[in-house]
Amino acid sequence: MKKVFLSLLGPPGCGKGTQSALLKTYYNIPHVSIGSLIKKMKNDQSSLGKEIRTVLQNGKLLSGKNVNYLLGKRFQENDLWNGAIFDATPCTIETANMLSSVLQQKNQSLTCCVLFQINPALLYKRVLGRLIHPQSGRIYHRTFKPPKVQMRDDITGEALIQRKDDTKGILNKRIAQYMKYKEIMENYFQKKDQLIKIDASLPPNVVFQKIISSVSLALKK
Ligand code: ADP
Repeated sequence: MKKVFLSLLGPPGCGKGTQSALLKTYYNIPHVSIGSLIKKMKNDQSSLGKEIRTVLQNGKLLSGKNVNYLLGKRFQENDLWNGAIFDATPCTIETANMLSSVLQQKNQSLTCCVLFQINPALLYKRVLGRLIHPQSGRIYHRTFKPPKVQMRDDITGEALIQRKDDTKGILNKRIAQYMKYKEIMENYFQKKDQLIKIDASLPPNVVFQKIISSVSLALKK
């Protein structure tokens, strides 16, 4: 049986994390956030840890080789074989090929790559108002998804924070990085007939419905 393996690509702030949380519950599959895997290693004293600190400070991309290493390690945890959501991955052909061959070993393949399309002006509003609950990764927004109690997580009541890299300067760099690989990955998945484009400026529940109906079509291919 075909399992659901999704790649979510889009600029920072387009809603990948928000949709991942919904898709994770809906399909009951893990959410693999490369951003989180990277951040977990940020205090590591290895050369990888050092590269990660530079990457995070400058809004840069981690090299394909190191992303493959982190992803390979994540696959070893053995919980990804019934489907998974790869958030902000792959950003390079190197990682896309790696992902495809890892899945192939288990007779699986990527169901589709969901490309989030959005007007850049909206990204600033979304990122600069983003609040997170660091312990769970729950995502809020000062205006678009305010918590019930100001600056407190709805479930635990713990404090919400603003991400350190959610500043205008770093956001500009991250958008520029995204623009460099967007076309390459879009062409890659288009050629493989695995590309789904979604209007990410719509409200979260509408975006979600559009994704699941496109995924169910992709599963029938
Ligand atoms: P990404 O993971 O792509 O960086 P997030 O999912 O963290 O993006 O969303 C960025 C911010 O925008 C968050 O504060 C989130 O609550 C808000 N957001 C996400 N999707 C939408 C949407 N469809 N409409 C309005 N706000 C949204």
